[in-house]
Amino acid sequence: MFTIAIDGPSGSGKSTAARETARRLGFGYLDTGAMYRAVALGCLRAGIAQNDRPAITAYCRGADIRLSFEPTAQRVVLAGEDVTTAIREPAVSAWVSAVATNQNCRSELVGRQQAVIAAGDFVLEGRDTTTVIAPTAQVRLLLLADPRARLARRGAELGGAVDREQLTDQVLRRDHDDATMVDFERPAIGVHVIDSTDLAPEEVVRRILALAQAAGLDRSGRAVLAAEPA
Ligand code: C5P
Repeated sequence: MFTIAIDGPSGSGKSTAARETARRLGFGYLDTGAMYRAVALGCLRAGIAQNDRPAITAYCRGADIRLSFEPTAQRVVLAGEDVTTAIREPAVSAWVSAVATNQNCRSELVGRQQAVIAAGDFVLEGRDTTTVIAPTAQVRLLLLADPRARLARRGAELGGAVDREQLTDQVLRRDHDDATMVDFERPAIGVHVIDSTDLAPEEVVRRILALAQAAGLDRSGRAVLAAEPA
């Protein structure tokens, strides 16, 4: 299986880059953050308090989350209901760190994510993809951008639906809280870094594809490296 893992803070351009890279290579796309968001939405709806760790853990372990891995038509289904749009709401973004900072939830979701990428060729994105979920991925990448660019991108993505305070909460406060669990702002050994502050999305994708080719893929996503000797 060929795996491309992309880490980085909010608004660094991870999702756009990961989806487009997967589309061009014909790979599956795994948005690991969508799983954290689905658990947060389920907890919110179940009336669980953000500081009730045992209840969050129990909910997470039993959560029926299904994702489609199609890069151009991502869908998230929670207990049979399509929650693709609902998981992006500000209330969920404000809740999700309670899931991300719960170590039992992390173990549960990491196990599920590893099972997904073991079954095919994937581009996956999320905070701990290069270090915890896929430390042996053929391409490991940390995508960075300065905070101003990240705020501007997330603001444009949300189309003015949130005010400045909510936006700062969604980007900077969330990264700050998440950083207490996962160090996603400094590259681990062997992880490539791309600073996307001044790069067009197409240029980011071009660089990722170049890294994939250097690691043994041809342009259509087929592995071209000879198999390792037995
Ligand atoms: O990527 P996205 O912003 O949708 O992720 C939502 C949240 O899920 C992050 O703020 C973080 O708290 C959590 N997350 C995580 N580990 C991942 C992916 C997401 O902790 N691999």
